[in-house]
Amino acid sequence: MTNRTYHLVIVGYGGMGSYHAKLLEDNQNIDVIGTFDILEERREASLADGYKAYESLSAVLSDSAVDFVLISTPNDVHKEIAVAALNAKKHVICEKPVTIYSEELLEIMEAAKRNDRAFIVHQNRRWDEDFLTIKKVYDEKLIGDVFHMESRVQGANGIPGDWRHLKVYGGGMLLDWGVHLLDQLLYMVDSKIASVYANLSYILGDEVDDGFQVFIMFENGVTSLVEVGTTNFIQMPRWYVKGTKGTAVINDWDINGKMVIQNLAEAVEAPKPIKAGQGLTKTMAPPSEKAVRSTDLPKVEQAMESFYDNVISVVEGKAEPIIKNEEVLRVLRLMETIFISAETNEIIKDFDYVNSESNIK
Ligand code: NAD
Repeated sequence: MTNRTYHLVIVGYGGMGSYHAKLLEDNQNIDVIGTFDILEERREASLADGYKAYESLSAVLSDSAVDFVLISTPNDVHKEIAVAALNAKKHVICEKPVTIYSEELLEIMEAAKRNDRAFIVHQNRRWDEDFLTIKKVYDEKLIGDVFHMESRVQGANGIPGDWRHLKVYGGGMLLDWGVHLLDQLLYMVDSKIASVYANLSYILGDEVDDGFQVFIMFENGVTSLVEVGTTNFIQMPRWYVKGTKGTAVINDWDINGKMVIQNLAEAVEAPKPIKAGQGLTKTMAPPSEKAVRSTDLPKVEQAMESFYDNVISVVEGKAEPIIKNEEVLRVLRLMETIFISAETNEIIKDFDYVNSESNIK
């Protein structure tokens, strides 16, 4: 790692802005030297936390001591701040969803290229342990070839905060949580998308979605269901994954769960019929004890560089970004496709062909 210390200013010192400040407290290479927020009370909070409070964005951008701008404002202003910071020759870290529309990200990518500065999106949930566990199950075929995955986050508190209720700020759960779950899925499944079908929910009466379900079929045969809800008083498992030789489940953020795997070494006994409701069934009876074994989920070692370390390696030309802007762009276009599918009630095919760069002006 480098010996140099980079100076970073956080723009938007709310919930996530102050979380970044905490995460960076002990970072060897990045020093948070200040913040800028449009709200007086947040500037006071910054001073109280020991960070200089800049009076304007232009004061941040004209300060030659600043190497990095980290954007953690609501989503609608990510683009204008990012482009201005890149034009001022700052490197930029930006919160998710990077922008509301893919055209805006293209503009940012162009500004990063023109100014030869790094632009990296904080898709932090690629480092989540539940995801890395499932990715290991998938990559190492621990339940055989995975052919179906269900990824869900569900709460019962409705849409939180204020701006997340409003379209103009890029509110709604698809942009807020969907971006994480879709990013994880596309990062894991190395295949083009064959079709997308979605529905958004508006149970709470907001102008933005309070949840959604999307079915994504991949060309390699993997099918998936991604679901976010904010009106779920009973939660379903975080992950439910089926493979040709078993099933894996992760119930919660504490990675409680298991794998149940076919026991091919043992002679498989036919299941005994059970009474189910008003009928009898062998098909739905639990498999005989000898037919399956239940095992713990694999442990994941943190194989990747941390997010911030990777950002520094990228700036110093020592590594490729773990979160590539082209991947972020694909997720953004997928979310645009999900909005269209939900609105038209149609299955959308050939997503990756329609959205290949050669087809987009
Ligand atoms: P928040 O409302 O708590 O904070 C946003 C702050 O930005 C507020 O203090 C607001 O005054 C300030 N702000 C608004 N417009 C500004 C502008 N033009 N210039 C400077 N400051 C401005 O919101 P939040 O929950 O912290 O979300 C902020 C961003 O972080 C969003 O993009 C959100 O999606 C993202 N986020 C990411 C994660 C994650 O895990 N990666 C988690 C939560 C939020």
